[in-house]
Amino acid sequence: MSEDLQQLTERQLYALRGRLAVGVHDPQLTLRGALHQDMRRCSNRRCRCQSGELHGPYTYLSLYGEGKSRTLYVPQAVAEIAAEHVESTRQGEALMLEISQVNLELLRRRALR
Ligand SMILES: [Zn+2]
Repeated sequence: MSEDLQQLTERQLYALRGRLAVGVHDPQLTLRGALHQDMRRCSNRRCRCQSGELHGPYTYLSLYGEGKSRTLYVPQAVAEIAAEHVESTRQGEALMLEISQVNLELLRRRALR
């Protein structure tokens, strides 16, 4: 990535930065984490899950970057919207990383503004 950026003119770098920024998610939708689904066994010894027919799937959100990682249960009613938020956050943060690379190149050229 950064090697390609060195080939671009300043004008192209500003244009690239603008295109990348358009795709960055609405900050209000930010939800950092990773969703995953899991099957569970309950504590009832006579339940069918004890013979392998597990409950679920249930959705969980793994959170990190707060020191230690945590996992939250995501109710089915909001699982879809949570997935949209997580995905747009992931894409937005990837774009912001690219924007930062562009700005670093501009900084190297003393053309950052
Ligand atoms: Zn059970």
